[in-house]
Amino acid sequence: MHLIILGPPGSGKGTIADQLEQKLRYAHISAGAILREEVAKDTTIGREIQKYIDKGKLVPNALVNDIVRLEVQSKKKYVLDGFPRTLEQAKAIADMHIDKVILLDIDEKTVIQRFAGRRVCSKAGHGYHLQFLPPKKKSVCDIDGSKLIRRKDDQPKVIRDRFRIYHRETLPVVRYFQRKKMLQRVDADGQPGEVFRSVKAVLKK
Ligand code: AMP
Repeated sequence: MHLIILGPPGSGKGTIADQLEQKLRYAHISAGAILREEVAKDTTIGREIQKYIDKGKLVPNALVNDIVRLEVQSKKKYVLDGFPRTLEQAKAIADMHIDKVILLDIDEKTVIQRFAGRRVCSKAGHGYHLQFLPPKKKSVCDIDGSKLIRRKDDQPKVIRDRFRIYHRETLPVVRYFQRKKMLQRVDADGQPGEVFRSVKAVLKK
């Protein structure tokens, strides 16, 4: 089974994809996490990628397409999180046999409030929320024990830019999959557990 999870910044794509991985054994392939890993290695390409991420801009398509393709190569069951984000990326994976595309549907005001409490672990980017999905131990990741941090691109100005890019670049991707009758909408304005139940219901259809 090959899934794509779409939605505006902060809609919970990473959280739902983490749960699909932990509970249903999907490989969670997060374009953002792979890019951040490259940044952490402090390579020439990593430093180039960092400039885009810190400004909330999209990393060039050719680069992202290559790293995602490399990552899915050996996997039978996966969920793509944060990819494709542009029509060019969507068309570049026409041969990947995607079974379902899930859109996490939520209004922007709700999402902006959510950002304030959002934290990720410093080692692997596992997602938490101080209010809705707190870690068992304060400021520590349940999964790998690393420290929880606020992402640099979760600052208000960067968030506004990320929304602008979502409207301009990613809404055409939503419409593209809608036209192909592959899109399934899930109400994402709820606790992660509720949203995950709705996602599971869609997967059974
Ligand atoms: P995310 O973790 O999905 O919120 O992504 C964080 C940042 O990584 C984005 O704001 C972009 O700068 C970059 N990024 C993630 N996915 C993509 C993609 N599919 N195409 C281009 N840039 C991406």
